Formats: sequence, C-alpha cells, structure tokens
Amino acid sequence: MWRGAAVRVLRGGGAGILRSASGAASAQLRRLLENELEDIRGAGTWKSERIIASRQGPHLRLVGGGAGILNFCANNYLGLSSHPEVIRAAVEALEKFGAGLSSVRFICGTQSIHKDLEEKIARFHQREDAILYPSCFDANAGIFEALLTPEDAVLSDELNHASIIDGIRLCKANKYRYKHMDMQDLEAKLQDAQKHRLRLVATDGAFSMDGDIAPLREICQLAQKYDALVFIDECHATGFLGPNGRGTDELLGVTDKVTIINSTLGKALGGAAGGYTTGPKPLIDLLRQRSRPYLFSNSLPPAVVGCASKALDLLMESNAIAQSMAAKTQRFRSKMMAAGFTISGKDHPICPVMLGDARLAAVMAEDMLNRGIYVTGFSYPVVPKGKARIRVQISAVHSDEDIDHCVEAFTEVGRKHGAIP
Ligand code: PLP
Repeated sequence: MWRGAAVRVLRGGGAGILRSASGAASAQLRRLLENELEDIRGAGTWKSERIIASRQGPHLRLVGGGAGILNFCANNYLGLSSHPEVIRAAVEALEKFGAGLSSVRFICGTQSIHKDLEEKIARFHQREDAILYPSCFDANAGIFEALLTPEDAVLSDELNHASIIDGIRLCKANKYRYKHMDMQDLEAKLQDAQKHRLRLVATDGAFSMDGDIAPLREICQLAQKYDALVFIDECHATGFLGPNGRGTDELLGVTDKVTIINSTLGKALGGAAGGYTTGPKPLIDLLRQRSRPYLFSNSLPPAVVGCASKALDLLMESNAIAQSMAAKTQRFRSKMMAAGFTISGKDHPICPVMLGDARLAAVMAEDMLNRGIYVTGFSYPVVPKGKARIRVQISAVHSDEDIDHCVEAFTEVGRKHGAIP
C-alpha cells in the first residue's frame, strides 16, 4: 500500500496522476525498478514500441512516422485482420450480443456464439471438441497442469514458445527438455520416461523465430513406438499450412496421430485475440472443469468471437487466400536468396534474414524503416547469441510490388552495411 505524501502531477487540467509516494518502501521499489530498467538498456535489449495510427494491414500509418509504411512484421498471414467481412461480423456480433459478458464462462458467460465457434474450430481441425480461452498463452498455461500429474512426464522441445514453457512449469509432471528438433535426443528421453504413467511430447508446429517446421512425422513415429501422446502449438500454422490450411499435422500427413492442438485466434484467424485447445472430448470436458485460465478469466468478447468465426468461414470456403500467401512467400524467399541473403526455415511466411551480429540487425532494421519498410530485428536473449536476424513476415495482402520493393530496400541496405557483397 502506498503511504506518506503522494505527489499529484496535473496533465492538461485532467484529474491528475498519482506519481509517487514518499514512504521508504516506495522509494526503495522505485530505485530497484530504475536499476533493473537501466540494466535492460545497458544490455541493449530494450524493446520499444512503434505506435500505429491506422488499421493492421500491409500499409500502415505510424504516429510521427508518416503514412504509407510497408508492414512486414505482423502475424497477419492471411490479411484477415482488416478484412471487410471480418470487421462486419464483429460489428454484428457486438450489436447482437453486446460488449462483453462481465463473467467467466461457467458462471454467466457462455453465449450461443461461443458454442458455435467451439464447434467450428473442432470441425476445422477434424477433432471431437474444442474449448476457447482468452488467448493461446492461456490455453498453454492451462493445459499441462489440468492434464498431467506427478505420475506423468512431459517432453518439450527446448525452443518451444514461452507460454508452453510457463505452462509446463506450472504442472507437477516429470519434465524432459529435448534438443531442438533432435529426434535422437527425444528418443533417449522417451526411453527414460517409460517409467511414468503418461508421456506427452509437446512441440510448436512451426517455430516463430526460425520459420522451421517440427519434424512431426518422426515425432509421431517415436510417440507410437514409446506409447506417448503428441501436443502441438499451431499458432504459426493454423489457417495456412497444409493443402487446406489446417496446419502442420495436415501438411505432414499426421492429422490422426496428433492428440492435442492449441492455437490462437490472434494471428492468421482474424488477428483479434483468443486461443483454444481442440482434441478428444473427455480432455475438453476436463479442461472446462479444471483449467485455471478458463475458469478464472472473462469470456471472449462477442466482437472477437465474431471475427474468428467469420475468418474460419472464409478459410473453409476456399484456400485461395492461403495459396496466395504461399506464392508471395516463395517470391520473397527466392529473390532474397538470389540477392545473397541467408533466409532461415523453408516455405514458411516467417522469413528470418540471418545477419549474425546484433548491432547490424538493429541498424539495418532502422535503415529499412527510413526507406518506409517496417521490419524488426531480433537479437540475444530472444534468439541465441551470434544469431541476430531481421524477421520478415509475408502476408496474403502484400502485392508482388510490395514484396519486390522490400527486397530492393534490403539489397540496398544490406550492401551499405556489408551484409551482402
Ligand atoms: N504460442 C506461440 C507459438 C506463439 O507465437 C504465441 C504468440 O506469440 C502464443 C502461443 C500466444 O498466443 P496468444 O497471442 O493468442 O496469446
């Protein structure tokens, strides 16, 4: 509790902001926080946020940065975030079902649109049932603890998303971390885990920092050999990987071998927010009883449900949007490689331009923005030391000219900074 004399700072005649309190504990807290923030700045890992003054899309207006910025760093793979039908569906849901439920699902927060969307998600993935969460982070935070006990084991790829890592931390199962996509290591860990009741292998379907795809065929073979279940996080796959955009399991022909899928509504599926688990009905029933982020957090707002539901309708009608994104990805990857860049991953719209040096990645990203192209540099600790990169993400709504313009800017900037000859 804040104690002592508080200082109110008035802003433009407003109500004022409680800026600080003079108690010793408050002063100590402020000092600790400022030291911590200084450490982050000193380490060169400070993340600043650019402010967008327009809708999400291939062309943005940035506050203080002018209009017509070409955007290559959103997870808006299919361009549905500002699709007119998706927006209309949100407005209709808002009008009909209101702003929100003021409740969690099991008390007073389940509407017919929530049930319809869960049914649609299950049908999309060809699973028995599905459960919605406020985000995929929550879906990942909620599943392992609800499903696994100290008698069980979970085997997790070392480069899995932070939310899987956190979800696994919360559960009491025996934990094994296998080397990234290393099937020998996974096999050794599965052998060791034979002593436990259940074994669950958990992996991202597509890894967001490298644009590489998990070797799901091999994982499923090992799972069969060692009697394990397979869980995949499909945030960077749902809607566009595989012939019908169902995801990594469809792409690699193992739809019937993967038991549990978690994914997001906040990327390709309209980009609003929300996540889900889909899989066997008894698992979904159990999550409704036990999963803490589901039980103790508000229902998804109707407008958000409306967006995702329409996005799924569009994808189930036709895979033309996903095909258009794949063609543009191919165009970007091949032109960049011809220009002399190394692009990590294969065929995925996440195209990491590998640069190695953290400073080089930062100055090149800045120079790209000066040329009207918004891309983000990633360095340690987000990616391993010496593997700094600029991550480019392709969307179905980029035009061929947008892609070519981006490649030209990279070529100019890359030459200027000695990244390519
Ligand atoms: N899993 C992966 C692999 C992700 O990339 C993300 C988002 O960055 C999440 C989970 C969390 O998704 P959401 O934004 O729905 O919480």
